[in-house]
Amino acid sequence: MLIDAETLENGKVIEADVAIVGAGPAGIVLALELAKAGHAIALLESGRLGFTEANQQLGDAHRFDPSFHAPMGECTRRQLGGTSTIWGGRCVPYDPVDFDQRAHIAHADWPVTYDELSPYFQRACDYFFCGDAKFNLHDIADITQKSIVPELPDEEVLTSTLERWSLPTNFGKEYFTALKRSSKIHLFYGLTCTEIETAADRNQVCSLQAKTLSQKALKIKARKYVLAGGALNTTRLLMVSDRQRPGGLGNHSGLLGRFYMGHLSGDIAAIHFTTPPDKTIFGFDRDASNIYLRRRFSFTREFQHQKGLTNVVAWLGTPPFGDPSHGSGIFSLAYLALNSPFGKYLAAKAIRDTAIGKNQKDFYWSHVRNVIGDLGKTLAFAPSFGYRRYLAKRKVPALFVHSASNTYPLHYHAEQVPNFDSRVSLADETDALGMRRLNIDLRYLDQDIDSVVRAHQYWDEYLQRHRCGYLEYFGADPAASIWEQAGDGFHQNGTTRMSKKMDEGVVDINCNIHGFDDLFVASSSVFVTSGQANSTFMIVVFALRMANFLNKQLQQSHPPTLSTAVIS
Ligand SMILES: Cc1cc2nc3c(=O)[nH]c(=O)nc-3n(C[C@H](O)[C@H](O)[C@H](O)COP(=O)(O)OP(=O)(O)OC[C@H]3O[C@@H](n4cnc5c(N)ncnc54)[C@H](O)[C@@H]3O)c2cc1C
Repeated sequence: MLIDAETLENGKVIEADVAIVGAGPAGIVLALELAKAGHAIALLESGRLGFTEANQQLGDAHRFDPSFHAPMGECTRRQLGGTSTIWGGRCVPYDPVDFDQRAHIAHADWPVTYDELSPYFQRACDYFFCGDAKFNLHDIADITQKSIVPELPDEEVLTSTLERWSLPTNFGKEYFTALKRSSKIHLFYGLTCTEIETAADRNQVCSLQAKTLSQKALKIKARKYVLAGGALNTTRLLMVSDRQRPGGLGNHSGLLGRFYMGHLSGDIAAIHFTTPPDKTIFGFDRDASNIYLRRRFSFTREFQHQKGLTNVVAWLGTPPFGDPSHGSGIFSLAYLALNSPFGKYLAAKAIRDTAIGKNQKDFYWSHVRNVIGDLGKTLAFAPSFGYRRYLAKRKVPALFVHSASNTYPLHYHAEQVPNFDSRVSLADETDALGMRRLNIDLRYLDQDIDSVVRAHQYWDEYLQRHRCGYLEYFGADPAASIWEQAGDGFHQNGTTRMSKKMDEGVVDINCNIHGFDDLFVASSSVFVTSGQANSTFMIVVFALRMANFLNKQLQQSHPPTLSTAVIS
């Protein structure tokens, strides 16, 4: 059932078995799973059913360094479905190496194992509509060429590892009907949780305080409370709930807000293959269910340990569309479309900026010349791509064009190591509901950069050893170029890290705030390391695991489950 919180009277109290704050992928999956098990859910969403600027601004940060972090208005969304309303849809699980004790990476001890999480991968894939939980070509019989180019065997470098792509699934849209029809879920939209009230004398939540934009105040009481507001806004909510506990709820170790991590991504080199150009798998594969897959260069677990590498992967990219020297009418047409007033309807700003490339906005006539010079090919390509990209239910994730010279930019995506000094904290400035905003200080280390530099050296050695190609660097100083491209905000990991011991983290192995048994976090904020994987697949894996855990707890405890949430 969907309820516009503005239609409720001021002072109302909502009671449920479980209160979930935030209706993005994490909150929606958790709500649907717990409702299936018969529990009454109050799901609070700060945004409305569609985008509104006023709701969005509630999540803005006070201070951040734009050279390292995107504005919150570009990297998060406040509306039903959360940031999945604008995401790309790439689905990648963490690797076993991410959960290893790695002597070369400090503060990287996960208290859970890969084997505890992998049983949830298939159900996560089902939620994303991204097919079978197979992330290696050797597990997919109907795709015969297992490497990116022929004669390139899997050794210390693998080219058979895969990312899978979802529709991209907008969780607000795909699960709208299920949320609306569920008698067990009350979804209150336009309702922002502004504080968690706790007992003065014990670790127990008394209620959630929530407000609408017109300043109506409501209370929510439940047996279990789950924060699923996205990583930084979840951490912010814990921080502002500091009446009883200085520094906020969960700050017993002084680590709340610490170890903020994203990824490093960019291009510092092109890969020149010396193999037959028509045998290069340059874009997407499709499996038997027509799911888009992409191959990547990665390293084995053993090699990462041996060389002291962080987890770094790379895939074949496209030149920045904005640079007309690519000479391609297709890329130039893509540039003209993305850079036009309609561009904002074609892709999220971040995705457009990445595709166009930096400082590439002033070559209009050169692009027009490219299109005219390449008119036949461009006109033949554009309608079919336009259909596959914008009209088909399962959308082609990106634009790729075969390179006749067998040369492709190599796009890296790398782990950022946990860094105590990389953090968020509260500013004095407040939003329209009186909640203090965040200061964001995302900081990279030389170790992050060095690992990406060395990864490229190992890829180059491997290509040359097999006489399949080589890398050509774009500039003389790859490290400087990686520093220049470092920055994130789109993948928000850490700030409520998970730990076995109370003094080493914010949540325990069940994502329960240490010391509490009724306050949980469903978010990538609990991640101990960032891995090479984009965050959302594992966010859903953890949400499924949490649903399992909460269901068992609720079934064992009294009073029995409510038949539905109550508003009084
Ligand atoms: C342009 C872009 C591309 C991306 N591409 C990818 C990709 O390809 N692959 C990938 O894995 N990830 C990608 N991501 C990241 C992905 O979108 C997020 O990891 C994912 O949406 C996080 O899910 P979540 O449920 O934790 O949080 P969110 O999706 O952010 O949802 C949180 C919800 O909580 C609500 N909320 C927040 N605070 C409160 C409060 N106090 N009270 C009530 N409600 C609240 C918000 O309004 C929001 O609806 C991308 C992100 C962007 C911006």
